[in-house]
Amino acid sequence: MPSTYDVINPANESIVETVNLLGLEETDAVIAKAAKAFESWKNVTPGERARLLRAFSQAVTDHREELAQLEITNSGHTRGNALWEADNVANTLMYYAAAPERLFGRQIPVPGGIDVTFKEPLGVVGVIVPWNFPMPIAGWGFAPALAAGNTVVLKPAEYTPLTAIRLGELALKAGIPEGVFNVLPGKGSIVGNRFVTHPQVRKVVFTGSTSVGKQIMVGCADQVKRVTLELGGKSSNIIFADADVAKAAAGAPGAVFDNAGQDCCARSRILVQKSAFDTFMEHFEVAVKKFRVEDPNLATADMGPLISKKQFDVVESFLDEPVAFKGSAPSGPGYWMPPTVLLPKNTQSRSWREEIFGPVVSVMTFEDEAEAIAMANDSEYGLSGSIWTRDVGRALRVSRGIETGALSVNSNSSVRFWTPFGGFKQSGLGRELGPDALDSFTEVKNVFISND
Ligand code: NAD
Repeated sequence: MPSTYDVINPANESIVETVNLLGLEETDAVIAKAAKAFESWKNVTPGERARLLRAFSQAVTDHREELAQLEITNSGHTRGNALWEADNVANTLMYYAAAPERLFGRQIPVPGGIDVTFKEPLGVVGVIVPWNFPMPIAGWGFAPALAAGNTVVLKPAEYTPLTAIRLGELALKAGIPEGVFNVLPGKGSIVGNRFVTHPQVRKVVFTGSTSVGKQIMVGCADQVKRVTLELGGKSSNIIFADADVAKAAAGAPGAVFDNAGQDCCARSRILVQKSAFDTFMEHFEVAVKKFRVEDPNLATADMGPLISKKQFDVVESFLDEPVAFKGSAPSGPGYWMPPTVLLPKNTQSRSWREEIFGPVVSVMTFEDEAEAIAMANDSEYGLSGSIWTRDVGRALRVSRGIETGALSVNSNSSVRFWTPFGGFKQSGLGRELGPDALDSFTEVKNVFISND
């Protein structure tokens, strides 16, 4: 049965817009349309498909201000972040626009003839997106999927459908044919689950919580459906005493409080070498108190509100551990929370083990390299992380020792559309972005042609 959802501005709790949520029959109708469109999209010549993706990218760039404004209002993202996110969609589309003309197979030496491989598209790809980064995470799925010749059905999160809906309109405006890129606002249990059960959806790209990801994987097994999972994280920010400790401390708030900590890559565990602890905390306190939590429309905002009252309550439940210090946040309507630094008693504390997905970070100390690696790896997750040291050998040893998919040394940046992104252990399955993402959206077909 069709229903509606009131989109709320998390900075002031006002209703932004009421969105129609698709029911099962409507979902099936869109999937059928996408399956039909696949028959022609897969045969669009590589050069033409590339041109259409470039046009889509340009349309996103032309509307970056509008898209960013929608995200500020719908998700409470800061203006700086929201503009970056719109640009990230345009850049990811432009990067994969180069792919259709370079989707090379191989020619393999064999006796009696020649052997060639083709990278064939899968068909309809279902992309299920969480609410924390509605635009980039959608783009990381749909851009390579479309480039490889698939059609896409995309379900935004219930809280944050507005930019995805607009991207669907911009795709059509840019000339992407009807039925090739479809946005389906709806519930996870209805639209999302239908991507899993519908036989014409050949692959599901899911980004979200580890618990839902596990259900998706189980559901996809029934049809041996291809699946990419980008799930939770509990990443470490490891600061060695030989590092530029002041620089590491100055960057640490952004590494965890960006997007109000609602970031799967948030460095929510800070590990500081014991001898540098006091210096680090001194600089870190100054940086946290300077971190500006304010109206996300302001160009100066470092952080906005949490996405919902529900998320606020979840995060608040972690605040019963000893507090080192806090930043500040506005009062009044909106889901505002100050950045908070905790000193958990030990590595069994809840804040040290569970993904919080809010502006809360826990700090602990370690003695040496081996202990730092062991502490970082003592988690079911393995998504990202940072290592701060001036010792190149140590940077290499620790990078190789940590079981995580996207590490940075003397930097906190984990996501670039040029490089692979994804998790070890329960942080996910498969990789997005970078030069190899096309492999996740194609099947290898081997053809032997006899000399006879
Ligand atoms: P969620 O798992 O609740 O929902 C994610 C999406 O799945 C939503 O669109 C939701 O409607 C849909 N969904 C829910 N139940 C479903 C079902 N049974 N079948 C199909 N679809 C269903 O996650 P969330 O609360 O929106 O996002 C937060 C989580 O996402 C965090 O755990 C975070 O770490 C993770 N995340 C991971 C990455 C990454 O790249 N690894 C990136 C961002 C967020």
